[in-house]
Amino acid sequence: MIKSLEGKVVVVTGASRGIGKGIARGFSRAGARVAVVSRSLADAQAVALALQAEGGLARGFAADVISKAALDELAAAVVKAWGGVDIVCANAGIFPSGAIADLREDQWDDVMNTNARSALFSLQAFLPALRESRAPRLVLTSSITGPITGYPGWAHYAASKAAQLGFMRTAAVELAPLGITVNAVLPGNILTEGLSGMGADYVATMTASVPLRRLGSVDDIAAAAMFLASDEAAFITGQTIVVDGGQTLPEAL
Ligand code: NAP
Repeated sequence: MIKSLEGKVVVVTGASRGIGKGIARGFSRAGARVAVVSRSLADAQAVALALQAEGGLARGFAADVISKAALDELAAAVVKAWGGVDIVCANAGIFPSGAIADLREDQWDDVMNTNARSALFSLQAFLPALRESRAPRLVLTSSITGPITGYPGWAHYAASKAAQLGFMRTAAVELAPLGITVNAVLPGNILTEGLSGMGADYVATMTASVPLRRLGSVDDIAAAAMFLASDEAAFITGQTIVVDGGQTLPEAL
């Protein structure tokens, strides 16, 4: 258990299910106060209630990370509720499939805006609060897809996930004088509701591609995000942690 997360205020976007829900649960169990965020207030509140039921301090909030105004309102609401913000986990993301030959402008924009532009808007919205924190952190959920690998049908997704890292490196340098660290977790294939939606064949193929012979769990990603957000990671900024069971390593399986 990472003791330094106790009492911290953490915002997790895309926390109504999947990886974000796992990150929210991890922080909650470590004693942090957790803002659970998704577009659906009911779904976010359901997760917050479940965390409260196990003794956590969590609240549900609705915000669409495509919207700068929505993120600004979210930041104001979280600060009003808890007096500040220490850690932002910008995790919300989508991964629809689309072949390059048919990819439309609106599909490209939707993925880029949800996954990459949201990193900028999230940071801008919470920057005033982070400046007041003793140990401010931004943790992005990127992916192995784009920064390291390619996958047919995910040109837009891969571009958005690589864009997050370009943003991260400059943000890390630009915000270092404020003591704000900016890092990213790169999940491999993690068993979430979203991943299951890719179908049984995809899940089987990916499981067979992982040297550790299983898909990742949301707790695997939560552990990495919590470390990057902890006081113990105070001297780490602009870096990535790949959490993929070794999937990106083999020359051949
Ligand atoms: P998921 O199960 O589909 O969950 C996505 C979450 O994001 C939900 O809580 C969803 O809630 C929220 N969300 C989606 N669009 C949003 C928006 N515009 N504004 C606010 N919230 C939004 O996905 P996941 O598998 O957990 O993936 C989470 C993150 O990990 C994504 O960034 C994804 O790219 C990344 N990732 C996942 C994997 C994997 O194997 N699962 C691998 C690499 C990277 P609402 O629909 O209610 O808004």
